[in-house]
Amino acid sequence: MAATLSKEQIVAFAQSQGLDLVGVANIERFAGAPQRMHPAEIFPECRSVIVVARRILRGNWRGIEEGTYWPTYTYFGYHGLLNSFFIPVGVYETACLLEDHGFEAVPYYPGVPETQPPDPPLRPGAVAPNVHLAIRIAGVAAGLGEIGWSKVFLTRKFGPRQRLAAILTDLELEPDPLLPPNTLCDQCMGCWEGCPSDAIPHLNDNDIVRIQIEDHVYEWGNTHMGRCTLCYHGGDPQVSPFLQKTLPGWEFDVTTQDVTEDAAYKLCWPVAHGSWRRTAEDPSGCLVEGHNQLIRWGGGEGAGSYAIEGSRGCMRSCFDHFERERMCEQEFAMGPFIQRERWLLGKRCQGES
Ligand code: SF4
Ligand code: SF4
Repeated sequence: MAATLSKEQIVAFAQSQGLDLVGVANIERFAGAPQRMHPAEIFPECRSVIVVARRILRGNWRGIEEGTYWPTYTYFGYHGLLNSFFIPVGVYETACLLEDHGFEAVPYYPGVPETQPPDPPLRPGAVAPNVHLAIRIAGVAAGLGEIGWSKVFLTRKFGPRQRLAAILTDLELEPDPLLPPNTLCDQCMGCWEGCPSDAIPHLNDNDIVRIQIEDHVYEWGNTHMGRCTLCYHGGDPQVSPFLQKTLPGWEFDVTTQDVTEDAAYKLCWPVAHGSWRRTAEDPSGCLVEGHNQLIRWGGGEGAGSYAIEGSRGCMRSCFDHFERERMCEQEFAMGPFIQRERWLLGKRCQGES
């Protein structure tokens, strides 16, 4: 027999486990989700989706913003610890609390699928594996925030500075109110201006994604994930001093590419992981030594991801804008994040270290 457990108890417990924000969506709010992204295809008895957020420290980006230090962001603010430890521990403990009270709890790891395998269903009437939630849309459905123009998830507390995860449960909980569209994003186009790869469309391009949850229609820009991935994961000389050092004379313009997200990974990932013979010119033997070092901070071979570009526009420009306009609750004594002229390297590698 299940024991009672209130939403207030769950929220207080999750927060005591280091999760900063907690919201609840009822399963009905996923009515418009594609089948392979629907929580009930993972857990048919699911009644509520508890979506949680943990902040990304502003200071995680400081070294990249200044162009002087890369490991902190990948290690503390991305895959190294935040995605792989800080968030999952709180999610898991909260799931344990639910099961201690007799309610099944599926902790959901929001690793973003670039593709879903073209495999048939394993059982008649079921959808094919793997089912993945659109975690940012789940965050909107749970009333935690909204998706900004750049496709990044925004909250009142941190602007764009958080990562999300979820727990699916058969416990029926009162859903949190939805945030009306454009409560937070003022369509300033700071993300568009700051994006080095031209991945984020301008408002005037009218390239828009739309979803509906209950009677709210949410819209955001149709960000080009191929260009974004090329830039973020190390294919763009403009943002990688490591490429500049390793491939002097090579020129590559990410802003003119039109590859898919998956194709961009196929280019960046092996280059960052790969090795070649050791030479006097490159004694490490890594294809790109700096990228390879960052993979180790991200969790190592096969385990983690890594960030080279560090979301210059969609995160850093966006939260700087939030801070300048006093749009987010968390404020800093020193004022807005961007304190100095920003840097970008050339599209042709100069051999700089
Ligand atoms: S920078 Fe942030 S607030 Fe401005 S348009 Fe982009 S997502 Fe919206
Ligand atoms: S992560 Fe970087 S490249 Fe991708 S959309 Fe954001 S600013 Fe642009």
